[in-house]
Order: sequence, then structure tokens, then C-alpha cells
Amino acid sequence: MTRRLSRLSRSVAGKVVLITGAGSGMGRATALLFADEGAKVAVTDVDRDGVESVTAEISSAGGTALGVVLDVADPASIGAALKTVREGLGRIDVLVNNAGISVGAEIDDEEFDDRWQLALDVLLTPHQRLIRACLDDLIDCGEGRVINISSTEGLGASRSTTPYTVAKHGVIGLTRAMAIALAKHSITVNAVCPGPILTSMTQAIPAEHRDTFARRRTALRRYGDPEEVAHMVLNLALPSSSYVTGAVIAVDGGQTMKND
Ligand code: NAD
Repeated sequence: MTRRLSRLSRSVAGKVVLITGAGSGMGRATALLFADEGAKVAVTDVDRDGVESVTAEISSAGGTALGVVLDVADPASIGAALKTVREGLGRIDVLVNNAGISVGAEIDDEEFDDRWQLALDVLLTPHQRLIRACLDDLIDCGEGRVINISSTEGLGASRSTTPYTVAKHGVIGLTRAMAIALAKHSITVNAVCPGPILTSMTQAIPAEHRDTFARRRTALRRYGDPEEVAHMVLNLALPSSSYVTGAVIAVDGGQTMKND
């Protein structure tokens, strides 16, 4: 083999990565990509069918995956899920907080409080719980990585989405606060803000509305693919990304910078 000239590794081979919401969309794409790169992947999701199908997909392609059903909104189940991952794959090196739902509300909605609480319970609070629950592993490995999936809704705001928008802004605040708190352990904590991406979350939007939005609002005039987000997550997880922390990176086809 040719001798490599760079000092910092661009490989996650052998690393254990835990991904929440890995049964579908961007979580699934991220799980498949890490497995392709030789990582050992804990495929977790509240949806058992999703867990089973992504785990089987990885295994049949020759990768290493362990499926664990985990509802991130249920704090009581986190400990047992992590124990299963540690016993099956080993110490967790990389945590990807990705699980999510679309939860909006009009300001005069009678259910506003419930929607607000649901958004925080699924989209924000679990991120800090999982980071804290994985902390010993992340410290122990010497170059722990946390990647939190926020959204362009974490950088701006749209109509009728207050609970989601607030939770996604919170993910950015949490990312920055944790990046400061964990820097002494050389753990990096970064946020990825996807723009419009074709997943089951956006599939319910009629195709012509998606096309109009993409043409008007993104510089690249199209929706993104889940794999295009997964590759950014992988980049942030690499040992060679050791000096990137507290960063908030849009993967949005130019949506947030576009003025015209
Ligand atoms: P998706 O619906 O395809 O996947 C989300 C996954 O999360 C599903 O498998 C679902 O079962 C799982 N999930 C939901 N609630 C859960 C819970 N309580 N515990 C564990 N798993 C749970 O959607 P996606 O678009 O791939 O979403 C992934 C992330 O990206 C979410 O955080 C979402 O908010 C964010 N995001 C999506 C878009 C987009 O355009 N699709 C844009 C910006 C941000």
C-alpha cells in the first residue's frame, strides 16, 4: 500500500457510532454511509420495522450493525439501550442525535402547549440526555464526536412551526454550550442544519409545492438527498475534524444565504 502523507486520519473504520432515528431518511442514509466506511453502527429508532430493515440492509452488504429500538423521548429506556450497544459493539465513539418529527402549531391553537412540549421532548431534551448518558464513553475514547441535527428552522423561522422552530434553535444553543463544556475532553460537538431534504418527513408535501419552494428558495433549485446530509455528518465525525467544534453547518442548497 502507498504510504499516506497526511497526519490526521480520515477514517471511521472500527469506530462505534450510535444514530437515533436511523430507521428512515437522513438517519438511515447516515447509518448506511458509516457502515460503508467500516464503522460499527448502532441503528436506533422508535420504529421497530425501520430498525430491522436498516440493520438487515447493512448486514447483507457486509457491514456491522446492531439494531436497538429506542424512543428518545423515554428517558427510562436510554440506559438499557446504551447497555445493549456497549455489550454488542463496544464503547460509543460517535453520537448522532438525529431522531425527529414535524410538529407545528398556530399561535392560537388550543393544543399549543402540548405541541410545544412534544417538540421539546422529541427534538431537544433527548439530545442532552443522550450526550450525558454517553459521556464516559466519549471521554474514554479520547476523540469523542457528537453531531446534532438541527435545521434551517434553527437559523430562521417559518409560519405555523413555532414549537419545531424553537426546539431546533435550542439544538444550536445546546451544541454551542456542550462544545464549551466538553472541550476539555477533546470531544467535539457540532450541529448540522439541513434545508429541504427528500425524506418521509417531506414526502407528504405535494410535489409541485416542493418544486416551487426549491426553485424559489434554494440556490441549487432542488431538494437535497439524505446522503448529502449524511456525508457532512461523516466529515464531522472524522478524526481529522478535531479542530471543528461548536460549528453550525447548513446543508441547505444555499437556502439560508440566498437573498433574491
Ligand atoms: P424521517 O421521518 O425520514 O426520519 C425520522 C426518524 O426519526 C424516523 O425513523 C422516526 O421513526 C424517528 N423518530 C421519530 N420520533 C422518534 C423518537 N421519539 N425516538 C426515536 N426515533 C424517533 O425524517 P428526516 O427528514 O430524515 O429527519 C431527520 C432529522 O432531520 C430530524 O431531526 C428532522 O427534524 C431533521 N430535518 C429534516 C428536514 C427535511 O427536510 N426532511 C430538514 C431539516 C431538518
